[in-house]
Amino acid sequence: MRFVDPDRVDAVLPSHIITRAMTITSQLVAEPDEEARARIIKTNSDLWREAGRYLAKVMDGKCWYCEVRQERSDNPVDHYRPKGRVAEEQAHHGYWWLAFVLENYRFSCTFCNSRRVDVEGGSDGGKQDHFPLVVGSQRALKPEDPLATERPMLLDPMDSRDVALLVFDETGVPSVSEKFSTEAVDAERVEKSLELYHWKHRPIASKRRIVFKRVAVVCSAADQLLSDFERTGEERFRLERERLLRALNVMADRATEHSAAALCALRGLRTASASAAEALELP
Ligand SMILES: [Zn+2]
Repeated sequence: MRFVDPDRVDAVLPSHIITRAMTITSQLVAEPDEEARARIIKTNSDLWREAGRYLAKVMDGKCWYCEVRQERSDNPVDHYRPKGRVAEEQAHHGYWWLAFVLENYRFSCTFCNSRRVDVEGGSDGGKQDHFPLVVGSQRALKPEDPLATERPMLLDPMDSRDVALLVFDETGVPSVSEKFSTEAVDAERVEKSLELYHWKHRPIASKRRIVFKRVAVVCSAADQLLSDFERTGEERFRLERERLLRALNVMADRATEHSAAALCALRGLRTASASAAEALELP
């Protein structure tokens, strides 16, 4: 997961979507009848599908939760706060008033936002209507209730502190960052996100593992080329090393799949490898 800057999201959404979303939200909030509200949501559901086409551009077509590129996803927008119901609270009617609030949209793959069972890998997950809160925080039940009193359990790609809580290692499955975790609930939030975003899904974990290992291999090769260049002064070693540093930089670029794993690998190596440190500094 990489940080998705709300300013970048604002920049890609065209004004006709923003205006229409605000108009429908006003209609919804003014409508006292629950069935009529459900009709408004259903008849305007094309809006979040259309918004999804623009939201895709923010992370070069990657799911904001898991960084897998979405080329043929049928329903790529997840409502971070679910619009229809909340699995954790049967009496809750969902955050219906946020159905057309664009800040509640996350570009997402089907594995992260829908219930899926991975039969071969033995894992299951998918966010669906889940939106657990940290114990003791106050859930918003209606439009007038502040969202600021809620402490979501699920990590949010649009919250930079949440993104910092995740670290990747050679296992391919993220865990809580010791550096950025400040309270016990952080580990619980990471664990819940692993489960509900289906981040243990074997094929994805395997890809992250490969990315993590590849960074180490390329860093080692680049370090060797540096040593060859220093020993011989031959330009070809320096040029080849430059090419590898660029490759490392691309692996950690936010537009690349599983770049968070590559970034963690580089950061972990930067004291031992001059090449890892240099790749991190490249513009
Ligand atoms: Zn995903």
